[in-house]
Amino acid sequence: MTKKLQKILAGMTVLLLFPVVIATIYEYVKINENEELISTVYKEQLETIVSSINSYTLDISDTWSTRLELWLKYPTDSNRLKKMVAENQSIKEIYLAKANKTYSLVYGRSPHPDLFSKLDSILNKYSKEIEQLKTYYQNGYRKLISVPGLDDETLLLFIAEDRDEKLNVFFVNIDLLAFFRNQVSPRIQSIAQEHFRIDLVDTTTNILLISSEPNASPMEQYDQKGSMWFFPTIKIGIGLKNQSIADMANRRIREGLRLMALVLLVIFIGIWFLFLSVKREIELARIKSEFISNVSHEIRTPLALISMYIETLEMGRIKTIEKVNEYYRIIGKETQRLTGMVNKILNFSRLESGRQKFDFDTCNLNIITQKVLDTYQFHLKNKGFDVKYFPADRLKPIRCDREAIADALINLIDNAIKYSRDIKKIEITTGTRKNYTFVEVKDHGPGIPKKKQKLVFDKFYRITTGHLAHEVKGTGLGLAIVNEIVKAHKGKVTLTSKPGEGCTFRLYFPILFTDKDLSNNNI
Ligand code: ADP
Repeated sequence: MTKKLQKILAGMTVLLLFPVVIATIYEYVKINENEELISTVYKEQLETIVSSINSYTLDISDTWSTRLELWLKYPTDSNRLKKMVAENQSIKEIYLAKANKTYSLVYGRSPHPDLFSKLDSILNKYSKEIEQLKTYYQNGYRKLISVPGLDDETLLLFIAEDRDEKLNVFFVNIDLLAFFRNQVSPRIQSIAQEHFRIDLVDTTTNILLISSEPNASPMEQYDQKGSMWFFPTIKIGIGLKNQSIADMANRRIREGLRLMALVLLVIFIGIWFLFLSVKREIELARIKSEFISNVSHEIRTPLALISMYIETLEMGRIKTIEKVNEYYRIIGKETQRLTGMVNKILNFSRLESGRQKFDFDTCNLNIITQKVLDTYQFHLKNKGFDVKYFPADRLKPIRCDREAIADALINLIDNAIKYSRDIKKIEITTGTRKNYTFVEVKDHGPGIPKKKQKLVFDKFYRITTGHLAHEVKGTGLGLAIVNEIVKAHKGKVTLTSKPGEGCTFRLYFPILFTDKDLSNNNI
């Protein structure tokens, strides 16, 4: 490869790779940014879930306070109260502290003999918070607070107005676990569905109170944590069911990187193919220019000879008839050489452009080969060649253009003659292999090195190393013509050769099966 080609390719690679590398880095940074954005959006979504669980809890207690307030205003309607506690099994007792600080047990059994004095001390302890609740109430907001109950239970405190528009305090003693299980859990299940897992954890004991997952234990890390508004020691933990957001982000980054690596690989492969095709084009251009100078030289030499001999003959200087005849013979031979070369070029151009019309017929390779040998016998003998022909018995017919196949065969025999040196022996064999019949031309010339065996079928290609290259004239079109002819017959051509041991060219043609063959399964 020339230095110039190397430079072009290096420039091309840099030109292509530079933007790709920049784009890759940019994409990588972008992916991270996108992941962060997705992460933020996801976290915000989880925060909404936390708020939604809290508002749901607020709704429940709000309903309780509304119903209790109604009962307070119409105490004779005891059904209202009964219905409420029946529907909410987590309610253990309900106490009432009237505006005048008198206490009563609204529902349930008194868990303590000195219940009212205990309620009194609670009222005193949370007097500030209760004042705040009252202010909220007066401004139209029904708020509540939770305080530790008389035993382990939790008390919900809220304000309710009686018929005299006095503000009273309700104490609803609830079994918190039952409240979460009965009231909150169905809501959590419906939010979590199959994607999320939502847990309520008691942070003082780290006990999992409820979870949207059956038989779960607390997770080590949640994607989002939030407190319950009324129960500050209870945390809401949310995570993705089968993976964390970090896992998901990592997976996406890995996928992105894999995709980019694939793109880079494709680009590298593309550059490599481009490299090969540019190299090939440059090689072809070189071969073409060599062909032109070669052919010009080949044409000029016989032309010069022909005109020189004609001039000499015209001058009448040649005295003997033998000499005159010899000159005519040389003129004829050189004209033939010229015609052969021009024909070859035209023939190839027709084949390559697809203008060649084939006259397909049912033929037998043995007969075609025999005819070619009959015509060539004299020429071969003249050149001192010993030609052996080994025709196969009962060769199956093929569909072919006789002239074209004979042409291909002549090209191979011509090459065998041209390139053979000391051992002037050619063996021609026909035979059958799988669904093909073949004809083979074997010589004992210099052979073709493995590396060049594919290239010799390329148009204009000639081996330029070794003494034969300069000694033997040619166009580099013979084997390309053979290849085109075989291709047009849906056949194939193979070359087996080792340097110094000659060449064996084999032309395969598909057998033309008759209906009889097919019905006899005789294939
Ligand atoms: P040409 O013979 O006109 O150069 P071909 O296409 O027939 O072109 O052959 C291409 C090249 O293959 C030749 O230049 C020659 O180097 C090599 N070649 C073809 N046939 C033979 C052979 N029988 N023995 C050795 N080399 C051969």
